[in-house]
Amino acid sequence: MDADRAVTRLRDAVAAIVGDEHVLLDDDMRAGYETDWTGRYTGRASMVVRPATTDQVAAVVRHCDEHAIAIIPQGGNTGLVGAAVPRAHSTRPTIVLSMRRLDVIGRVDVDALQVTAGAGVTIAAWRASARAVGLDIPIDFAARDSATIGGAIATNAGGSRVLRYGTMRRQVVGVEAVLADGSVVGSLAGLPKETVGLDWPSLVAGTEGTMAIVTAARLRLVPLFEHVVTALVSMATIADAVTLVGLLRQRLGSLDAVEIVQQQALDLVAAHLGTAPPILPSAGGTIVLVECADHRDPSIDLSAVVDSAPGVLDTAVAIDPVQRAHLVQFRDRITEAIAAVAASTGVPTYKLDVAVPIRAVGELLDVAGRAADSDRAELIAFGHLAEGNLHLNYLRTTTPSTIAETVLGAVARLGGTISAEHGIGVAKTSWMHLVRSAADLDAQRALRRALDPNRILNPGVLEPVTPIAQVP
Ligand SMILES: Cc1cc2nc3c(=O)[nH]c(=O)nc-3n(C[C@H](O)[C@H](O)[C@H](O)COP(=O)(O)OP(=O)(O)OC[C@H]3O[C@@H](n4cnc5c(N)ncnc54)[C@H](O)[C@@H]3O)c2cc1C
Repeated sequence: MDADRAVTRLRDAVAAIVGDEHVLLDDDMRAGYETDWTGRYTGRASMVVRPATTDQVAAVVRHCDEHAIAIIPQGGNTGLVGAAVPRAHSTRPTIVLSMRRLDVIGRVDVDALQVTAGAGVTIAAWRASARAVGLDIPIDFAARDSATIGGAIATNAGGSRVLRYGTMRRQVVGVEAVLADGSVVGSLAGLPKETVGLDWPSLVAGTEGTMAIVTAARLRLVPLFEHVVTALVSMATIADAVTLVGLLRQRLGSLDAVEIVQQQALDLVAAHLGTAPPILPSAGGTIVLVECADHRDPSIDLSAVVDSAPGVLDTAVAIDPVQRAHLVQFRDRITEAIAAVAASTGVPTYKLDVAVPIRAVGELLDVAGRAADSDRAELIAFGHLAEGNLHLNYLRTTTPSTIAETVLGAVARLGGTISAEHGIGVAKTSWMHLVRSAADLDAQRALRRALDPNRILNPGVLEPVTPIAQVP
């Protein structure tokens, strides 16, 4: 059968399942689904398929399995490792399975502090449903308006509240998912305790759509705190910042987030927003953003800890929501400011998301800075300090692979990990051996083969097969 006839047959088959208008064939209709948020990763799909129910997902997957068609599951397409867009050089028939129409969110169970949400519900909608009944969600990050529950589970997303509540994996009390043969597994009962063999949330969290496609999840909620205080603290050295983290963790039960913003990142956002930085610069040191939230005002306790810490050069504190938002944007809008530079220069940013034991953060930043200098690139570094998680963004880099070799090698030597929260995708497959043994990788391969013998679910992700596509 020639390629055109095969596409027509596939189109007819999936249109019979999801409806004609939810199969996107035209180049301009597919385009937004074929290139990732960074502009670095891109590929071609035969079509984009947009199911609305679990049954439709199962039927589409079954058809793809029978005809060995590759499926790229996609939520909000805010992932940063090229895992949600088609592979660059693949010749295999491929569909993007957009999960955004599975966007129904159930009634909040205020007694259990849980809610059931479709995979396509955004993080922002999950939060709105919780806040409408005086509760909150345990996860938050800047892509909240587009990133989906399914994508957040598949990447085991982190964000700023991990310090208090853990990563997305810990928020999933139950999951419903479709396996590669189209069968539906899991449970949305939401029982906090259950031991009946395999735990499906553990299998799907962090495996980037390679083990199963999440269609819905039962999610944990947390108290909504009336009082929130945000502080930006300028520190003389990274070591002082690390000491501050220890003091905050020991003394403040209300601690919600401790983020690191290197001076260059703060300056970049200030320039992007056309406003002055809200705090004195810290040459050679760093800026730490701290948030505390509680049922009573935690600002006095926070100030007491900050005042007692060594190396504090300057502090800006806000409790008023408008002033807090002003401070928070210097952390929240860094990725957006970086994207604006990439758009203006036409050179996609090279992004690494790594974590090391917190005492090694300074040493890693030194290595990362030297790697930038040797490439005459600019390094914009920020991240989640309490977890030793750094986002290293190289602007105008010409040698991303050399930078990765240097930095990821150092990360492994320091006892860290090559992916803290963004995942491996297609971006880091070449370096998995640095943090996983051969036996570990073999076991992962065997599990994947058993669940997906025709290799239809996100081929190329979490396995070293395809070169990285660079958008010219
Ligand atoms: C401005 C900005 C800030 C960010 N900040 C953070 C941050 O602080 N912390 C953090 O962890 N991440 C962050 N990210 C990265 C990104 O938002 C997260 O990885 C997010 O979880 C991706 O969700 P998504 O719905 O966009 O998934 P997509 O990008 O669509 O997909 C990501 C992965 O999940 C798979 N997938 C998607 N839906 C499903 C499904 N239903 N079933 C199975 N697999 C699926 C895809 O195949 C792919 O492997 C940020 C991104 C941006 C652009």
